[in-house]
Amino acid sequence: MGGPEVDHLIALLARLPGMGPRSARRAALKMLQHPEARMLPLAAALTEAAHAVRSCADCGNLDSQDPCSICADEQRDHTTICVVEGVGDLWALERARVYDGLYHVLGGTLSALSGIGPEDLTIHLLLNRIAEGGVKEVILALGATVDGAATAHWLTDQLRPTGVAVTRVGQGVPMGGALDVLDDGTLAAALRTRRAG
Ligand SMILES: [Zn+2]
Repeated sequence: MGGPEVDHLIALLARLPGMGPRSARRAALKMLQHPEARMLPLAAALTEAAHAVRSCADCGNLDSQDPCSICADEQRDHTTICVVEGVGDLWALERARVYDGLYHVLGGTLSALSGIGPEDLTIHLLLNRIAEGGVKEVILALGATVDGAATAHWLTDQLRPTGVAVTRVGQGVPMGGALDVLDDGTLAAALRTRRAG
């Protein structure tokens, strides 16, 4: 139905997180019914973001400037780095406004099952940042999964020789829960109750 252009659009939309074929069809239909108001502005925003947004060379955040707006912000506490698995976790903490230090996006967790080893994570970049001086505390805010806990343990060992304080976010992080799905109050409590790692 609708020709190959519509089929192609639906196929692309269906690949987005949270979308399946049914919601992709509904979204495509809504857009096609209002091409000027809904479709062309979206197409322009997609093109603009695809060209402008980069990975921050310091922390791994996605931003249209590099260093990102967080790393470049002199008002923030540059002595504290919060390590998260992915950019989604970083954005969740920013949305909750519970933290004013810097971040480091690790790029995942160690996972024997998925074949993710230390070389796949950005620990060397984190160690470089610490070696540059000025960092006093590293907060590990990894998900409370088996892999997250193993990764936090491994990171604590790797960071020990640097002499910086290593802490872990505390209670309120549900088993198997990623930071991205936590509400703001829970995130705030998790950060407030961090403890020595
Ligand atoms: Zn950054």
